[in-house]
Amino acid sequence: MIASEAAPFAKTGGLGDVLGALPAAMSRAGWDATVVLPRYRGNTAGREIDRFPLRVGGYSTEIGIFEAPLADGARALFVDDPRMFDREFIYGEGTGDYPDSPLRFAVLARAALEHAVRGNIPVTVVHAHDWQGGLVPVYLKTLYSGHPVLSRAGVVFTIHNLAYQGWVDPDWLPRLDLPWHLYSIDQLEFYGRISLLKGGIVNAGMVTTVSPQYAREIQTPSGGVGFDGILRSRGDRLVGILNGIDAVEWDPMADRFLPAPYSADDVSGKRVAKKALLERYGLASDDAAMERPLIGMVTRMVDQKGLNLIEQLAGELPWLDAGFAVLGTGESRYQDMWRDLASQHPWKIGVRIGFDEGLAHLIEAGSDLFLMPSLFEPCGLNQMYSLRYGTVPLVRRVGGLADTVTNFDPSRSDSTGFVFDDFTPWALIGTLRWALDTYRDKDAWHRLQVNGMRQDLSWDRSAREYVKIYESAVSRGTP
Ligand code: ADP
Repeated sequence: MIASEAAPFAKTGGLGDVLGALPAAMSRAGWDATVVLPRYRGNTAGREIDRFPLRVGGYSTEIGIFEAPLADGARALFVDDPRMFDREFIYGEGTGDYPDSPLRFAVLARAALEHAVRGNIPVTVVHAHDWQGGLVPVYLKTLYSGHPVLSRAGVVFTIHNLAYQGWVDPDWLPRLDLPWHLYSIDQLEFYGRISLLKGGIVNAGMVTTVSPQYAREIQTPSGGVGFDGILRSRGDRLVGILNGIDAVEWDPMADRFLPAPYSADDVSGKRVAKKALLERYGLASDDAAMERPLIGMVTRMVDQKGLNLIEQLAGELPWLDAGFAVLGTGESRYQDMWRDLASQHPWKIGVRIGFDEGLAHLIEAGSDLFLMPSLFEPCGLNQMYSLRYGTVPLVRRVGGLADTVTNFDPSRSDSTGFVFDDFTPWALIGTLRWALDTYRDKDAWHRLQVNGMRQDLSWDRSAREYVKIYESAVSRGTP
């Protein structure tokens, strides 16, 4: 696997979580799994196992490869090139990328493949991720097309978020050692520019994304961010596989951030967490507050996560018979909105602006309902943590949210949460009111909780799906 992030070494989002867990899960599934990522500043893990010169376009450097063991026999390799990767940020300042990003991730791809060539490593499958990995299938198709081992490897490319497409100007082609004929509509060209994401999609043997529903949505004009035609053309090789969750880190029976353990068999520890959460936020925690449903949210405060729906409901939320425990960072207008709400209703609405792992765990455990009204959601992790923690998720029917949460139906025994369709404030508030009413029916609520807690959200389930994809990639070859 080749990617720009893998937890715990480098993580800015879901991509890092996946690459932090999937190698070990593939290893448990019987594969010899290695993840290659840049050796960013501050990473002192591992020991040097290889060193060689590398040229990419006009850039000459010397690469060190460091190796560190991962769980269950998997391993991580770090590509050391201080000029490229020993920088203050992983991608760049703020939300932008460093201007030489194409070169940085070309170096990652080439160093990973060269190391395999040098060591005669019998690679069966190369699995690259997101636009930063997009050059990997392209190089395999061009520079390594005659290589005795690499040219026969299955090639898998995974899209974690289609919104990031790796745009660069065409004059980058020679600087990345790529021939001009790739500047064509069936290769990397896209409206006069080059997309490295497209390079990955059109040259891989199998393309995956992180939920079945997202796989369908990105093939439609409304969900395809301009790529729907390209993805439809690869539709017979495009598969959605849900991410798993880290079942050790997120386990209500053994969570170091919780005051008491609990499980589906005995959820009493959840009340202890609720009390602790109310106190942590300085909210009322008397009997009345403990009886009142508590709504949790841990999120990037951006449009993708439905924050503008909430903004339109800001006048109504405080009058619901519910408290709020909110954690996140993001756009200042949304941060200010939540801060204002909390200062106006200090007994009912608690808000922390910032990143706080421990508090995120306490919110997942101590809340009754978890809110995720996303505009789009490739997979989403928080709703899965909520399910595992007996916190009933309220989500929009989109992407991975649609695949993981089953809408409440009193006549069914498998419901796990509340799901609304339209991206409107009315649909959200209507469903929220319905959920708060249902909360009073203790039996129905308990069933929702237990159904969620019993779901199989493990990486082992995901790994079994990836094994099938790897086998298809080997047997079907690249286009
Ligand atoms: P995305 O990757 O789009 O942000 P996900 O739901 O897939 O959304 O993953 C978000 C991850 O980041 C989860 O593990 C979540 O708990 C964590 N997270 C997001 N914001 C915060 C925060 N402010 N503090 C702690 N953890 C956070």
